[in-house]
Amino acid sequence: MAEKRNFTIAGNWKMNTTLNEAVDLVNKIRSGAADFGRVETIVCPPFISLSKVKELLEGTSIQLGAQDVFYEEKGAFTGEISPGMLSSLCRYVIIGHSERRTYFHETDDVVNRKVKAAIRHGLKPIMCVGENLDEKDAGATESIINRQISLGLSGIESADLLIAYEPIWAIGTGRAATSAYANQVMNYIRELLCKILHTGKALRIPLLYGGSVNAENITDLLSQNDIDGALVGGASLKPDQFLSIIRQAN
Ligand code: PGA
Repeated sequence: MAEKRNFTIAGNWKMNTTLNEAVDLVNKIRSGAADFGRVETIVCPPFISLSKVKELLEGTSIQLGAQDVFYEEKGAFTGEISPGMLSSLCRYVIIGHSERRTYFHETDDVVNRKVKAAIRHGLKPIMCVGENLDEKDAGATESIINRQISLGLSGIESADLLIAYEPIWAIGTGRAATSAYANQVMNYIRELLCKILHTGKALRIPLLYGGSVNAENITDLLSQNDIDGALVGGASLKPDQFLSIIRQAN
């Protein structure tokens, strides 16, 4: 029988929840934590709630992540948050989400600098990659992923990171990729990582699938060999859904 794997389930709350709503949501998630078993569960609230959520997660196995970070250490960068500010608060940070690439024009170079800065400060990046619908239809998925991963990880030797494959056409659309499609792309990502890093290191990097993950499709997605977990958006704001996803991953 295949060895049972440890999955990672991360909730990306995006620009949702006031401080009070974040407290309420995390309290509900926390109440189910006794059943999380071996699942590495991560919640990524907005910056303003990190400190309070950190307090509420103390004594649980739930980990905290931020949704972005800047690459400079400090200084005149109005509105930005440095890796040093985050490292005492959380263990993980999402970098290069397609919404940041699209709405805030983040390039692969910016993503690369952020990943490097995060690793330097002991944060674990969850680096996001994925093709849009036109790119998929044009058969360009692998070349897009190749570019995003090669440039995003340029000069990086550490394996202390995660990759989230999130096809843009599946994000927030209710139309998740089929598990077979996701697994095929994630197999390609795994092979790419083996070429970029040593194979031993590449095999240690968890690959998460993201894009309309919910309590109905998670088991099927996790049954695939190259899918080690999920980055969950909309469903992570619904405690019942999120708890069900984690239980099924356990
Ligand atoms: P979704 O978002 O689950 O709402 O599709 C996933 C993400 O953008 O990380």
